Parts: sequence; structure tokens; C-alpha cells
Amino acid sequence: MLKITPYLGVIVLIVSIGGLWYPVLGYFLLVVFAAIFLISPFRGRWFCGNLCPRGSFVDFWVSKISRKKKIPATLRSLWIRLPIFFLLMGFMGYRISNAIGSLNAFEKIGMVFVMMCLVTTAIATLLGSYLSPRTWCSFCPMGTAQRLLGGKKYPLKLEKEKCIGCKKCEKVCPMQLKITQNATNPDCIKCGRCVDTCPKDALKF
Ligand code: SF4
Ligand code: SF4
Ligand code: SF4
Repeated sequence: MLKITPYLGVIVLIVSIGGLWYPVLGYFLLVVFAAIFLISPFRGRWFCGNLCPRGSFVDFWVSKISRKKKIPATLRSLWIRLPIFFLLMGFMGYRISNAIGSLNAFEKIGMVFVMMCLVTTAIATLLGSYLSPRTWCSFCPMGTAQRLLGGKKYPLKLEKEKCIGCKKCEKVCPMQLKITQNATNPDCIKCGRCVDTCPKDALKF
């Protein structure tokens, strides 16, 4: 992860709470969407593990109150994730199209983004504290989009002859991935924690 990654979580609070008074802050989501669609075709879910403010928020804030349980495997299934993706995107599109052309349309659209950020952050916080910090990230529509756009790009590589099977890498993986079974999982968020932890230097990008 980057040096600034642990500090990005504060942006989520600024947009979700400050945005209730200053809806223009909601347009920050457009920056996030643009970054995701520029980065993911080359680096998969790298944005999630390095630049996403909510990812940082759950990793470094919510983790302090998390029960750190297992993330249910069903939440990772595309059968669950794709309907959630289309539902949330469709709902956001519907709300924006209603606002277009109305009085104060700029502010109203900003508020649609703010509410989207606030509600999803509330869900991420609840799930993160009850289960594991990155539970939301297992089925977040923006994570799913990155997986579809570049899940095979910039894969983690495991040198099997060096690996001693200690599973220290899996213990630190925020996405709870089974690294030793499938190092190239398209839901890897490229945070690099496993690489830093491996005592045998068996992992690299
Ligand atoms: S899955 Fe969603 S909330 Fe989690 S880090 Fe990625 S974009 Fe952010
Ligand atoms: S931490 Fe390294 S040596 Fe241990 S299981 Fe993971 S890859 Fe293998
Ligand atoms: S596999 Fe490694 S780089 Fe990928 S999410 Fe897990 S800890 Fe981070």
C-alpha cells in the first residue's frame, strides 16, 4: 500500500457528513469513478487496496471495533454481486435523472452522490464491525466493476518452491483470500501485505 493509504479514510467522513451541508462534496465520487475506470484495466483492484478512501476507512478505523470474523463465501459470488451492482447503479441513475432539469439540479445531483456515499459507508461500517473490516469490499459494486475490468491484470505471483506453507500471508490478507491455493484471485486488492509478511520472499507482483 502507499504511505498515504492509512490517512485517506477521513475523506469518506468529509464527503458523507460534510456533504449533508455542502452537497457539492458529493462530486468527489466522480473523481473516484474516473480513477477506478482509468486504473483497473491495467492494475485490477489496485485502487481498492491503495487509494480508496472507504477501503482505508474500514481497514484503519472500523478494524479497531471489528469482531474479525470470516467473510461469508456467498458474498463473493458474482450471482450476488452482479445484481447488487445493477441495483445500486440503476437506483443512482434513476435519482440523478429525476434531478436533471429540476431547480437546483447541481446541488440535488451532488446530494444523490452524498447519500450514496453515506448509506454505503453505514452498511460497510456495520458489516465491518460485526464481521470483518473488508466485508463490504467483497461485494461492493465498484470492487466488482474493477474485477470485471481488470481482474487478471497485475497478478500476485507465488513461487511454490520457496513457500513453506506457514499461511502468515493469509492471516494478514484483509480480503481473507486463500493465497496459497490461488494467488491470482481477481479479488486481490494489491495491498501488498502478504508480500511484506512472507518470511520466505515467496510472493511478489
Ligand atoms: S471494494 Fe469498494 S469500498 Fe472497498 S476499497 Fe474497493 S471501491 Fe472502495
Ligand atoms: S507467508 Fe510465504 S511461505 Fe508462508 S504460506 Fe504464505 S507464501 Fe508460503
Ligand atoms: S492477496 Fe495479498 S495483496 Fe492481495 S489482498 Fe490479500 S494481502 Fe493484499
